[in-house]
Amino acid sequence: MKHERICLISLGCPKNLVDSEVMLGLLAEKGYGITPKPSHADIILINTCSFIKEATQETLDTIHEAVELKKSGSCHRVVVVGCLPQRYGSDLAREIPEVDFFLGTEEFPRIVEYLEGDPDHQKRVAVERTSFLYDHETPRLLSGHFYSAYIKIAEGCSRSCSFCIIPSLRGRFRSRPLESICEEALRLADQGVREINLVAQDTTSYGLDLQNGTNLAALLEALGRIEGIAWIRVLYAYPEHIDSRLLRRIKNSEKICNYIDLPIQHINERILRAMGRPVSRRFLERLILKIRDEIPGVSIRTTLMVGFPGESAVEFSELIDFVERIRFERLGVFEFSPEEGTQAERMVKQIPGSVKKKRRERLMQLQQRISLEHHCELIGKKVLVLAEGPVGDKDTVKGRMATQAPDIDGQVMITKGSASPGQIVTVRITEAYPYDLEGEIV
Ligand code: SF4
Repeated sequence: MKHERICLISLGCPKNLVDSEVMLGLLAEKGYGITPKPSHADIILINTCSFIKEATQETLDTIHEAVELKKSGSCHRVVVVGCLPQRYGSDLAREIPEVDFFLGTEEFPRIVEYLEGDPDHQKRVAVERTSFLYDHETPRLLSGHFYSAYIKIAEGCSRSCSFCIIPSLRGRFRSRPLESICEEALRLADQGVREINLVAQDTTSYGLDLQNGTNLAALLEALGRIEGIAWIRVLYAYPEHIDSRLLRRIKNSEKICNYIDLPIQHINERILRAMGRPVSRRFLERLILKIRDEIPGVSIRTTLMVGFPGESAVEFSELIDFVERIRFERLGVFEFSPEEGTQAERMVKQIPGSVKKKRRERLMQLQQRISLEHHCELIGKKVLVLAEGPVGDKDTVKGRMATQAPDIDGQVMITKGSASPGQIVTVRITEAYPYDLEGEIV
């Protein structure tokens, strides 16, 4: 039995979080202790994100804080895993000699070997490709709330968006077998998980590479039969491959949340083409109409990117008009980040940072108004809410509707009535704000 304590800091997206939870599972199985506090740890493990510049900077800051703890003698090893070492492993190894290992995106399943192997016979930087895909047998320790979990249904991405570094870090798209995903969901349900969120770089391509007729609709159908799971939510639904069968599956199942996370990035034809997105404005408009038509009451979330090279004021206005007209229920906006090694980094007419910032703010302000209007329509209505727990030491309990994904969307503050974490309760909405709602249990 090991007595060393590990603190795993998971940065970035929910897909990274699943990798972190697999590492925690492997380490816990070997008897390592787990602590959430870096200052209490013997070993600090950082699972990194390097999707855009800000994420890279946050990651570097976190590594330097861990290195300071090592220098002070508080911990004795620091290990850096994931996207950042996959991208800059050798440079980082030169610049940060205090870090013991830099392990790429597919080395993390071997974390125990690295920690327990003979340091004289181990590489300090390991970023080889192995096409690893975890399965239901892989140990995994949930790090968040016991009632909610992400399931990664595929790894990698075979698309070629000109601004994105992910395919070169994570490899080609590869789906997990349907049976393995269902088995994992079954095990999670046995542990008390009530809500699962399906993630991948591109969930709507799920199964196509398996060439056995499996697809996302079939997966949802199978997952919908698992007892104990109350809500299934699909995130990162690339607009292509969303068809009537998938929409009907979502509409006809009580368990599948009426929520579509549809990252479209932009709406101007020229920009969509320059981004390497194979869908046109017309396609996206029709798709959104079709989604709303087939799933009444659906909430559509999208992600937009402003300040792509050459984005003119007119092209940006087109995006503003589009958002005003479509009235997405939820929306996130990124500023374009010229990532080293991408096509878009080399494009001419890069947009100044101040312009990107203003454009983002403008869109966010517009969306705040639209979100508030959507939320006001809910006042007086009854909705189902998954309770998450008390807010501070107040009597208020926070929770989420099926149309609010964890961490990215708002919450419902329940000001009257009580509910335990993981319980799904009926709430009458009493107040609306741009991000959150307030309500009372009925
Ligand atoms: S779909 Fe495009 S943006 Fe998303 S991970 Fe793949 S290449 Fe990147």
